[in-house]
Amino acid sequence: MLELANGTAHHGLSVHEVALLWETDPGRGLSTGEAAQRLTRFGPNRLPATTTAGVVRRILRQFHHPLIYVLLAAAAITAALSEYVDSAVILGVVLVNAAVGFIQESKAEAALDALRSMVQTQATVVRDGRSRTVTSDELVPGDLVTLESGDKVPADVRLIRITELRVDESALTGESMPVAKDEVVLPTTTPVSDRRNMVYSGTLVTAGGGAGIVVATGAETELGEIHRLVGASERLATPLTRKLAEFSKILTVVILVLAAATFGVGVLRGEAAVDMFTAAIALAVGAIPEGLPAAVTITLAVGVSRMARRRAVIRRLPAVETLGSTTVVCSDKTGTLTENQMTVRTVWTPDGRYDVDGSGYSPEGTLRDARGADVSMDDHVALRWSLLAGAACTDAVLTEEDGRWGIVGDPTEGAMVVAAAKAGITASEVARSLPRTATMPFSSERRYMATLHRDTTASRPGDGVALVKGAVEQVMAQCLGMLGEDGRTRPLDRDTIMGAADELARQGLRVLATAVRPSFESADLTANTLRGNLILTGLQAMLDPPRTAAAGAVAACRAAGIEVKMITGDHLGTATAVADHVGLLDGASDVERMGLTGAEMSALSAAEFTDAAERTRVFARVSPEQKLRLVEALQAHGHVVAMTGDGVNDAPALRRADIGVAMGRGGTEVAKDAADMVLVDNDFATMEAAVEEGRGVFDNITKFIAWTLPTNIAEGLVILAAVVAGAALPILPTQILWINMTTAVALGLVLTFEPKEPGIMNRPPRDPDQPLLTRALVTRILLVSALLVAGSWWLFEWEVAHGAELEAARTAAVNLFVAVEAIYLLSCRSLTRSIWRIGLFSNPWLIAGVTIQIIGQLALTYLPAMNTIFGTAPITADTWLRIAAVTAIAGAVVAVDKGLRRKYGATE
Ligand code: ATP
Repeated sequence: MLELANGTAHHGLSVHEVALLWETDPGRGLSTGEAAQRLTRFGPNRLPATTTAGVVRRILRQFHHPLIYVLLAAAAITAALSEYVDSAVILGVVLVNAAVGFIQESKAEAALDALRSMVQTQATVVRDGRSRTVTSDELVPGDLVTLESGDKVPADVRLIRITELRVDESALTGESMPVAKDEVVLPTTTPVSDRRNMVYSGTLVTAGGGAGIVVATGAETELGEIHRLVGASERLATPLTRKLAEFSKILTVVILVLAAATFGVGVLRGEAAVDMFTAAIALAVGAIPEGLPAAVTITLAVGVSRMARRRAVIRRLPAVETLGSTTVVCSDKTGTLTENQMTVRTVWTPDGRYDVDGSGYSPEGTLRDARGADVSMDDHVALRWSLLAGAACTDAVLTEEDGRWGIVGDPTEGAMVVAAAKAGITASEVARSLPRTATMPFSSERRYMATLHRDTTASRPGDGVALVKGAVEQVMAQCLGMLGEDGRTRPLDRDTIMGAADELARQGLRVLATAVRPSFESADLTANTLRGNLILTGLQAMLDPPRTAAAGAVAACRAAGIEVKMITGDHLGTATAVADHVGLLDGASDVERMGLTGAEMSALSAAEFTDAAERTRVFARVSPEQKLRLVEALQAHGHVVAMTGDGVNDAPALRRADIGVAMGRGGTEVAKDAADMVLVDNDFATMEAAVEEGRGVFDNITKFIAWTLPTNIAEGLVILAAVVAGAALPILPTQILWINMTTAVALGLVLTFEPKEPGIMNRPPRDPDQPLLTRALVTRILLVSALLVAGSWWLFEWEVAHGAELEAARTAAVNLFVAVEAIYLLSCRSLTRSIWRIGLFSNPWLIAGVTIQIIGQLALTYLPAMNTIFGTAPITADTWLRIAAVTAIAGAVVAVDKGLRRKYGATE
């Protein structure tokens, strides 16, 4: 029966029919037992990691490189010339190359997949009539799910109830405008994009809410269908890899032209066509840096997993590169620079000021007046109504487990619930005396929350009362009076209230105002019915301690030439005090210290705004639209901007920022979806760690390129020189393939695991426009190329001149190439520090890689089978000594070059 329901056009059925079909109750949902059974029957609600189509495509992609085409052509022609061994070697290399590429790529993909599970999507499901949060994996068809603004739709759902639900379906349909939904039954022929009574897995709720029955999970969803068709996407591409791919293409063309020219020149000079063809292939094969694309991808993947270990989850690979260039980090305050663990310390009312003691969320503690005496609620009417607002106008719940107190919900609200409980006002008492009848939820735009209650203790039964809490400015703007402790209302004294709020904020406390509207008859609670009718009852000031690691991380960013700015929805005074505490205002001028509020920002002209964005360090009471403008203004100054955010409306700013950073804890799915990176623990220090890793990744890519290019250049030049000089080839094509393939894997990969250089956070951010290779590095690459050409040429000629066979002389040249590459590898492990400073053992892969390479070289030189395949021959101890001597000279020259540049301060 249930299987039959699969694939039905649910949009054409009524809610009742869908519920019957899936044997579920649209009010109470499934039973827990039934849900568990269905989970075994239908499997978890997730997409299969990779489809077969994806795997086949990925294997084929390994052969889709210009170099591989060249090699395949070479293999075909050598076979036609009856050089079967050569042909087989070339084909073997093509296969090995494809296999290595495939394995590495799969590993990188798997690493990215693993990251996804670190930020699991949560879903709210009703089972046995009770609402609970589960990971979206656990959903089954027939489940009743509820959706609210900011959620990612966890499965394909037939809606049964909605309130102004709007969904961004761009992931599915490409349509970027959110679409409105309703519950009507639609014709079965309605296309997916018009099915207003359905929401689909992977789309995002941008406004409103709703509930519905899950009708498809995992691979059965529309998203699953797309996934099956498309296979694995090109997630591993980044601007850098694309640039390198472009570079490789141009290089291949240049090299092919050179190779053709070599062939032509040789033949014209009367050399045998077969020999010249071999030379041309050797040149082509040698000069193309085949290990480069793979090395870059691997380095990026290694970076991603290092960041994940430090609790920063990369969602888009290019972010790894961009992190290294970040020049400004815009961080929010609550939860990122502070702990987001609030405790009310002071309650202020128009007639008094009360200190609250106790710690954490434990309701043990007391309220004392200015003289230190306990206060009774009976003679403090304003205080009582302020605390009541905190206890009743809230969605937070105080919990106790094994004597440990905690809260479920927003910490700001939790702190106010606890403060009320300390005065004996408990949730159960509030529910009895002031049952709630309507709610206006908190939103970052409105900055306050209001609730409507029936006052069962009022003189006139049925009297309503509205309670409000929120940002001081917002609440005060709607008040006409303020409440005295004697219960009498007085005219609102704005200056006194603002003065008190400012003074509390200056101490770094987060201040919320509370208000009441007695005798509220209206049944609908709206901003209009509240405006101008409220009576302010008090202010509650809470402490949110700065994170212990925040100050260190801010200082580290500073030292690294990265500016840190705070962008918060909180009061300017509180924001500035916290900013000062974490060192964000260190060294700031008086102007920079002042900070800017959202209201002030709206009054600025475009030019003034751009200017202020650069100068200001603390932005308070900022709206999400202003965050977007700030990103744009900073980018106009040439900054590479990282910006944090967690709400639905932060998504545009996160997308626009060079690095959008979402919060793992409490952040909406919409924000995570728009972000390039998610901070699992919301901690600012994690951001700093990610920047550090990003810099390390870039360094390692540069090191690999600096290491690999001289070999390619030298191989090409040696062949070119031999043809031009009419001499025998010092290295054969198959030998070149051997060098390139084995060293790239055994030696080159070592660099991708190289630990970060000390002092990596003491240099300025990398200019994104700066070329990958600086002048100093290009010089070094050319120097090493020259050493390789001169060394191998000299050795080959010397060996031949002293009676060695051609095979043995070539073997000597091949071993020399590898030896110089190995010694140069030691140098490349740091772009500036000397070999001795780096230490041989700081990268454990090094010893393993070099050992494997040595074994390989010995096999190539002495194993008869290898001799036959690669045209090599055993060499004598004398020859090894000569190889060692040339290698030592090459090593010394590179060390001197590095030393001189260090000494004379040439930049790398
Ligand atoms: P940040 O942007 O650094 O996270 P924030 O938490 O203060 O700071 P918002 O959540 O946008 O930013 O809150 C803005 C203001 O709204 C707060 O300063 C506070 O005055 C008020 N506020 C916050 N939470 C609530 C709530 N649950 N109910 C009522 N008012 C609230």
